[in-house]
Amino acid sequence: MKLTNIYKCPSCGAPIEFDSKEGKMSCNYCGSSFDVSQIDEQYKKYEDTVVDETKIDKEYCQFDGYTCGNCGAEVATDETTTATFCSFCGSPTLIRGRLTGALKPQYVIPFKIQKKEAVEAYKKWTGKGIITPSCFRKESTIKKITGLYVPFWIYDYDVDAYVRAVGTRKSRDRRGDTIYEHTAHYSIGRNVSGSYEMIPADASEKMDDKTMDLLEPFDYSEMKPFEMPYLSGYFADKYSYDMEEMKDRAETRVKNYIYEEARKTIVGYSTVQMLGSNMNLKRKRASYTLMPVWVLNYEYKGKKYSFNMNGQTGRIVGKLPKSFAKVAALFCGVTAFSAGIFALLGGLFG
Ligand SMILES: [Zn+2]
Ligand SMILES: [Zn+2]
Repeated sequence: MKLTNIYKCPSCGAPIEFDSKEGKMSCNYCGSSFDVSQIDEQYKKYEDTVVDETKIDKEYCQFDGYTCGNCGAEVATDETTTATFCSFCGSPTLIRGRLTGALKPQYVIPFKIQKKEAVEAYKKWTGKGIITPSCFRKESTIKKITGLYVPFWIYDYDVDAYVRAVGTRKSRDRRGDTIYEHTAHYSIGRNVSGSYEMIPADASEKMDDKTMDLLEPFDYSEMKPFEMPYLSGYFADKYSYDMEEMKDRAETRVKNYIYEEARKTIVGYSTVQMLGSNMNLKRKRASYTLMPVWVLNYEYKGKKYSFNMNGQTGRIVGKLPKSFAKVAALFCGVTAFSAGIFALLGGLFG
């Protein structure tokens, strides 16, 4: 079953979006705003796992292919798309079957940075490099900046570790006319235990792992139980890797943290050589969470560059090419994070 959700304004019927400034669902048409939960509640009745298609209100849902609930046009998706826009009428559209049941995210950190703030930050950022190619600052390029909810697994661990090292201490003493140097060797062991909570690992094949790590930290105090309307007005993907496939990345981090903790307790030696450790990790929890990121990907002289901004904190991670006057006129293509979305953005914002 291929159902999509388009949230419509209870007052006037126009499509509504999540408003990152107000933290509510806002109607751009009549100016009304509504709580996310209020809108979610109204659509809940359509979210049962077993749905009698004949009873579904056609205003909200369509069944054959992913079609826009507003205009009926086919909605472009790839295999992980969960939230997108109709390329024909621009309505924010959610792929419901990929957001319910076992695929339902547990939490979401809603966008706080608005598109215009992301655009301003991008302009400032590209302005930093005096010789940034001009095409990076064209309005048509900047418009393609995309608000994307990236799927993450967030892990909690308890760890017990035993860390081994050898240390040396040097000393001198004088007997008669002779100075003796002594080196004493010590076998060092440390038992360390700790709890590590909220260790994130992005579960999207499309996003670069290192870039996602650099966008941290997120403020987890603003994490909300997932409700679908948060995604309205943004792009979103479901996870490409499940919690077992991603756990190594989180566990490597946890192991590094506890190793560092242990290392800090080994003091008072001239030299220390770490030998290794035995670690016992117990996973307490793994939560499927969507995190907000503003993204602009581009290609310049055959190389890929990207601008990424934490949609909650405004932290920027990216790389700019250097250019010289004579190459500035060369082809400079902007690509969105997938071909399907690119076509779509072209249609929508072109
Ligand atoms: Zn309205
Ligand atoms: Zn449409």
